[in-house]
Amino acid sequence: MSEFETVIGLEVHVQLKTKSKIFCGCSVDSQSRPNTNICPVCCGYPGVLPVFNFQAFKLATRVCLAFNCKINPSIYFERKNYFYPDLPKNYQISQYQRPLGEKGSLKLLSGKPIGINRVHLEEDAGKLIHKDNYSLVDYNRTGTPLLEIVSEAEINSSQEAFEYLTYLKLTLQYIGISDCDMEKGSLRCDANISLRAKGSPKLGVKVEIKNMNSFKGVKAALEYEIKRQAVVLEKGEKVIQETRLWDQELSKTTPMRSKEKAHDYRYFPEPDLLDFSLPPGLVAEEKSSLGELPLDKRKRLLESYSLGEKETDVLIALRELSDFFETAVKRYAHPKEVLNWLIGPFLEQVNNLEGGFSAVRISAENFVKIVRYFSENKLNNLAAKKVLSLALETDQDVDEIINSHQLTQMSDQGELEKFIEEALSDNPKAVEEYLSGKSQAMQFLVGQVMKKTKGKANPKLAREMLERRLER
Ligand SMILES: [Zn+2]
Repeated sequence: MSEFETVIGLEVHVQLKTKSKIFCGCSVDSQSRPNTNICPVCCGYPGVLPVFNFQAFKLATRVCLAFNCKINPSIYFERKNYFYPDLPKNYQISQYQRPLGEKGSLKLLSGKPIGINRVHLEEDAGKLIHKDNYSLVDYNRTGTPLLEIVSEAEINSSQEAFEYLTYLKLTLQYIGISDCDMEKGSLRCDANISLRAKGSPKLGVKVEIKNMNSFKGVKAALEYEIKRQAVVLEKGEKVIQETRLWDQELSKTTPMRSKEKAHDYRYFPEPDLLDFSLPPGLVAEEKSSLGELPLDKRKRLLESYSLGEKETDVLIALRELSDFFETAVKRYAHPKEVLNWLIGPFLEQVNNLEGGFSAVRISAENFVKIVRYFSENKLNNLAAKKVLSLALETDQDVDEIINSHQLTQMSDQGELEKFIEEALSDNPKAVEEYLSGKSQAMQFLVGQVMKKTKGKANPKLAREMLERRLER
């Protein structure tokens, strides 16, 4: 396989986070009952006219700016004609000859830029739900604003594809244009892949892969396809140009249809929407609302707080988490301690919350109190986690929680003495084992002290006291 070079291009469709559809006032709520968010416009009744949703246009412009695209100053739409049961108009309003943005790029961690060929606006189609021997159609999604982001065929491995998608999605989430939830279909990805002899200037025959519902799925599908095409080429046969579907369960791609050519769609200018020019000031306004992009943030966090790369990647994967980290470090200048608690117990508890980070109410001030008390031995690990869980969704004062639940760590020898003696006299077998050289019996005895003190003992001190006591 080493004599082949892999060439991959990715097409990402992302639903824009607007309240209403792109050409009518219907809601884009995906949780509504089927066929309740529809009207004559998005169902393509004769004689209706589309009215352009300017918010969709603003969000799309923001995406173009985030990827340094050249923005076309005059905007116009075309009709892409085709028949499909989920497309009641029999055409989709899209952009073909003049996309909103062109010639952008996204840099991978290695510094390699992946060109973005085009970013264009269009409307989403409906949804088909296939049953055993019939299909249902839900038009709620019809007309949801959709952005298509097409990369250049400059991706050379499944790993690069995975990284490109990861940072593309993160960027879109950071600039707030979509929730990018692949499970709900608000972000979808198709891949084009071909192999060519190493060093050859001519591209090989490409295959399109669809139906991948996670980035891991994209990576696995590409890996499968690289192997499959290499076997075909090594045998001296030709790869067929076609669309293939990824089967997650079987971990393989299967043929779906041979590929249509672009001109099959008979694009022509949309007669119901006039061309219009970019409103003055819009680009500057959207540029100022971009904020810091994920890779810039990654670089800055690495440099400013001397963190490890892995931990930093966990932090930036959620913008709110990295923001929270910085606010916390401002109040308690121990980035490593804050980080450990944040990507450890904090994140673990957040992931168990219904609603995830949006349900978090704890203030950075209360959070750093927990971190500080832990480091000062005022709270032990168990108690600190308990306080965190009680304050996470309420932002109740940490000192109040500690007092009302009597969680202050026992770090006073005199106070602990009684529990140490009890643990020893209640467990003669463990004592005997320890004295005969089985050092793991000590862990058991410490556990007994923790139990007797309802988790409040300072475990380090308890161990020291037990060891000292048994030395005698
Ligand atoms: Zn509508």
